[in-house]
Amino acid sequence: MLKILILSTSVGALGSGQGGGIELTIQNVARELQSRGHQLQIVAPVGSTVAYLAVIEIAGNLHIPVQTQSRDVPVDLPDNSVLANMCAYANRVQKDWDIIINFAFDWLPFYLTPFFQRPIAHFISMGSMTVATDRIMSETIKQYPHTFGVYTKSQAASFPFGDDCEILGSAIDLSLYQFNNSPQRSLAWLGRIAPEKALEDAVAAANITKLPLKIFGKMQDTDYWQQICRDFPNAPLEYVGFLGTEDLQRELGKCRALLMTPRWLEAFGNVAIEALACGVPVIAYARGGPTEIIRDGETGFLVEPDRIEELVAAIDKIDSIDRRQCRLQAETEYSLSALGDRFEAWLDKVMKSRG
Ligand code: UDP
Repeated sequence: MLKILILSTSVGALGSGQGGGIELTIQNVARELQSRGHQLQIVAPVGSTVAYLAVIEIAGNLHIPVQTQSRDVPVDLPDNSVLANMCAYANRVQKDWDIIINFAFDWLPFYLTPFFQRPIAHFISMGSMTVATDRIMSETIKQYPHTFGVYTKSQAASFPFGDDCEILGSAIDLSLYQFNNSPQRSLAWLGRIAPEKALEDAVAAANITKLPLKIFGKMQDTDYWQQICRDFPNAPLEYVGFLGTEDLQRELGKCRALLMTPRWLEAFGNVAIEALACGVPVIAYARGGPTEIIRDGETGFLVEPDRIEELVAAIDKIDSIDRRQCRLQAETEYSLSALGDRFEAWLDKVMKSRG
């Protein structure tokens, strides 16, 4: 059994939604590893709330999400960086732990890896983002092979060191998601309301089909949202808000399909497996993670990216999907126990490679 110290994302408190899917992944991985007997503590920004898990809350200023910045942005940290403070804490207590898992997509923890005595396993939650993060990651994995885990193959392929990453996927606690076989008319869109998610394409498709679109998620970019509302004044849309898993799965389960319209290379897309678990088929742009999740024609449709007419065509044939197949796929491929097995095997490799 391992003593595992987890470094959380530095862009928001756990539970705030600001960090996106990695928040759910951290909680799910931590709960599963803890249930297997590993000892565990999460180091996260102040305000983080995680049921059943020990959290050390660290003060400091949050980091700017890297996807809002240009590729050539220099390495910068906010004054009194929460991540610097989290790393300082981890450095102080490291002798009490066997291994550190870093979930922050930031330059600093990679740079600091050689300065720690304990091994650091890095879980990378996005595709290639900046020149500086690519460079520090490349140098780190060269020095510490096997220490990088990612969600998917398509995400890994965006990095120069992609072939050296462990593909770990994602998972959810299926017992929290109820199968719903009696959908209403509405479509769903789920995620952070931010330009890389291209909500406007889903709104445009809803506007054409005249099917109501229910929008769930963290309001990250208000100007962007208001622009969408101005561009589509008569679209049948409803912003429901940012919901906790219990309410989210209940409302999501009532929808006929989930639309996923990433403009960026989606690393995974936790929302896809949450929808499948509720029996909701997923219509997604064939870009990144969704291409490795959705079975085209069986549990949803993969369509040519950035083509609204393709979204509309897929919506028109959504009733050909058997919702039971969606739930079945979630149960067979995205259970926490499968993810726990992959994480344990990876951590074992990291421990052995650091000797
Ligand atoms: N989410 C949520 N409540 C909502 C809408 C979304 O908790 O009302 C969560 C959802 O469970 C998922 C995350 O937001 O874990 C979005 O993650 P995803 O991997 O799809 O995209 P990311 O934000 O990481 O790019």
